[in-house]
Amino acid sequence: METLRGVKDILPGEIEKWQQLYDIAYDILSKANYIEIRTPVLENTELFKRSIGNFTDIVNKEMYSFEDQGNRNVTLRPEGTASVARAFISNKMYINNNIHRLWYLGPMFRYERPQKGRQRQFHQLGIECIGSNSPIADIEVIRLALKILNQLNIKGYKLEINSIGSLEERTEYQEKLVNYLTKYEDDLDIDSKKRLKTNPIRILDSKIQRTQKILLGAPKLKDVLKTESLNHFNYICESLNYLNIPYEINNNLVRGLDYYNYTAFEIKINQLGSQNTLCGGGRYDKLIEQIGGPSTPSVGWAIGIERLIIIIKNLLNDKIEKPEIYLITEGKLAKQKVWHIIEIIEECQICFELDLNEKNLKKQVKKASNSNAKICCILGEDEIKNNHITVKWLKTGQQEQVILYQFKAYLKYIKNSVFN
Ligand code: ATP
Ligand code: MG
Repeated sequence: METLRGVKDILPGEIEKWQQLYDIAYDILSKANYIEIRTPVLENTELFKRSIGNFTDIVNKEMYSFEDQGNRNVTLRPEGTASVARAFISNKMYINNNIHRLWYLGPMFRYERPQKGRQRQFHQLGIECIGSNSPIADIEVIRLALKILNQLNIKGYKLEINSIGSLEERTEYQEKLVNYLTKYEDDLDIDSKKRLKTNPIRILDSKIQRTQKILLGAPKLKDVLKTESLNHFNYICESLNYLNIPYEINNNLVRGLDYYNYTAFEIKINQLGSQNTLCGGGRYDKLIEQIGGPSTPSVGWAIGIERLIIIIKNLLNDKIEKPEIYLITEGKLAKQKVWHIIEIIEECQICFELDLNEKNLKKQVKKASNSNAKICCILGEDEIKNNHITVKWLKTGQQEQVILYQFKAYLKYIKNSVFN
């Protein structure tokens, strides 16, 4: 049996990286007062249509949508922000506090062509700063993304930012852009030609050279921005300068989801080949209102974990706990008594492995020697009779007998002196 195309098992050997990543995110984000939220993987299809936008790639061709047994149209979430916004509304979170800082880590689903760093089930770590329209919130979230990357020792990334203006400014701009591009309609690539009718602003980040050439002469988004948008954007740029955070303004950075306004940003890294975007984010002041909540300006980002794991593969030291004690038994009584020994080991918080092969003592000792454990604890008939445990040091082969009631003290002693 195989997995479905584009989905992967995360196996021992890799999962430790995920756990470390979770710990680092938890640590950095909790300290900044961000609290984890876990929303369902399954949502009403309508939620994504209304938030991400009907003419985006995600809603148009990437969603895993189906009818459930009760004929409801449901979708496996393709991203996290819409779900968090929905949760904010359904749980009336706006009643108690006007600012909410939330983060999530979980699986997302998009029907795309699988490639390195692009899967159909993938994971995102994301944060949402809900309730503030201040550019200080934008700085806070951008800083946190970089802080996490830095903590993971990731080098060579590039922060690109842009302002895509307010909804009104964008509508005004789209009109100008369409007017201009219609003159060159026949020369545009097929996708851009389609977008001219549905989502013209996305044409700006077309990767097709022919289209990019045409775009050189197009009206610029930044030329329609009015004072408020410009002030917001300039504040962010000045703060990034002040913080010595390198960035590049990319006037063609738009983002694939409809709900963004003002700030849009991405963090890119070369090591990933064509899937070079590690993090995408921006401001979404109208989203919560648009799906039925009170007007609540917000800003956030999402990092693709699979892409992060590719990069950090060799950077983190494995901190997997490995058994220090290998436990072997012989005889019916010993196999019962061993649970008391295990309790003592657990109290001392030492990692252990109980032999499950049911072979004779000699073979079990061999197994212990082949493991990475430091000592082998032997509980056989002699040991039961004499109320002691035989401890064999696996490196030297030295053996000693430890009286049962002294075993805990013995373990504590060797834990501090030898195991660490
Ligand atoms: P891309 O241009 O690579 O398709 P996107 O703009 O669709 O990215 P977002 O919706 O902004 O991506 O998601 C944020 C991040 O999630 C991306 O920067 C990327 O790291 C990750 N991501 C998105 N889609 C996938 C996928 N199919 N497989 C793995 N990671 C993904
Ligand atoms: Mg995409």
